Amino acid sequence: YIMRGVVAIVGRPNVGKSSLFNRIVGERMSITDDASGITRDRIYAKASWLNQDFRIIDTGGIILKDEPFSKEIRAQAYLAIDEADVIIMVVNARNSITVEDEDVFNILIRSGKPVLLAANKVDDNSFIDSIYDFYSLGCEEVFPISALHGIGIGDLLDRVIELMPEEKKNNYDEGTLKFCLIGQPNVGKSTLANSIVGEERVITSSIPGTTRDAIDTKFTRNGQKYVVIDTAGIRKQGKIYENAEKYSVLRAISAIERSDVAVLVLDGTNELSEQDKRISGYIKDYNKACVIVVNKWDIVNKDDKTMQKMTEKIKTQMPYLSFAPIVFLSALNSSRINKLLDELDLVFINYNRRVQTSVLNDILIDAVLLNQPPMFNGDRIKISYATQEDICPPSFVLFVNNEKHMHFSYLRYLENTIRDTFEFSGSPIKFVLRKKDN
Ligand code: GDP
Ligand code: GDP
Repeated sequence: YIMRGVVAIVGRPNVGKSSLFNRIVGERMSITDDASGITRDRIYAKASWLNQDFRIIDTGGIILKDEPFSKEIRAQAYLAIDEADVIIMVVNARNSITVEDEDVFNILIRSGKPVLLAANKVDDNSFIDSIYDFYSLGCEEVFPISALHGIGIGDLLDRVIELMPEEKKNNYDEGTLKFCLIGQPNVGKSTLANSIVGEERVITSSIPGTTRDAIDTKFTRNGQKYVVIDTAGIRKQGKIYENAEKYSVLRAISAIERSDVAVLVLDGTNELSEQDKRISGYIKDYNKACVIVVNKWDIVNKDDKTMQKMTEKIKTQMPYLSFAPIVFLSALNSSRINKLLDELDLVFINYNRRVQTSVLNDILIDAVLLNQPPMFNGDRIKISYATQEDICPPSFVLFVNNEKHMHFSYLRYLENTIRDTFEFSGSPIKFVLRKKDN
């Protein structure tokens, strides 16, 4: 597959942006976080059409809802202009054009980026005529679609692909470890990026990434090739973002999505914040490998228990990242940078690890004997067979008699069993349940 670029979806609330996003991505993308019970919509994902990959952003999911609406939709438009190669503006075909629609459309068109107007909720022919009104906005193409019923999506995507730029030159050599540094402002991400890509390491090149102004820096250490996807050094200048925080979250997400390993940078002199937890949740959502850095270790008041206490605090407050190793370092003094890179190497190997099916089944049979799966409606859930289906992340298929009622706490038990046997530190583990009768 060839990565072609980024598509952004823009439009007023309730026109069907997230329905279209889900339709294009091909699955329900809401993420339910077992730990917090929060469900939120995924706003950034990879999709493909005609053997071409692209990234898609639902800008409606990004902007804070408590902003006044007119501000919000303009912010969406600017975001789309900045991030995307092609913009889809969605309108509800059953409503007439508003002043805000015109305003947004004009902002988009002036950017020079290709803009496609998708007139949504054309579920049948009774609304087809109303789409002609939308030509009065001044756009050349209006696509009648039904996000709900999947009508007209193919034609829209055909055009999206045609309008994409030629293939971007960001395909790295096989085996390259792509990672990003993410975290709150001022935790030391830029300082860390600089000490990682220090003079002693050979920088092969810096090339523009897929999103605007992201700089990917390649370097090599002990024969391993790396790419650091830099979001830290990027500071938006001369532009007013209506919502800078949400904007930086999008940047973090896009960097995470393009990485194999996400390095979560924390400031050792501060307590963990809600924002740390939110950002770290995205690493989990996108099933990326992870290393946690506690930075500024040089100025932390410490005794021989501090490291252990901080480790425990991180593990309890971010239980969904408990697989991630933690490295305490000082980016400013360039101390323990090699330790971090060693961890990255190991975590990357684990993220790519394939285990033998026979060994896997042996340990799972033992685990089931030791601790039986729970009952459901008087029947015991049976696991007949397991196999590793994929890597990055390592994904295990379990064939069970009742795939709908496997409790997540039992899956956690199986996960721990797998982790006790094989080296998966820093890598998430995914289970896929399939039904097997008998
Ligand atoms: P967003 O706020 O723009 O992201 O809109 P949503 O995707 O959440 O959709 C808003 C509402 O419109 C939901 O109730 C959807 O089920 C509905 N909707 C979305 N697409 C269609 C469509 O093609 N036809 C119809 N009839 N309803 C739709
Ligand atoms: P970013 O916003 O996450 O990219 O953070 P910066 O790299 O710009 O760093 C923010 C501030 O923290 C700067 O003043 C850095 O000099 C300082 N800083 C970064 N790393 C360390 C460190 O390891 N120790 C100390 N003492 N200060 C640091």
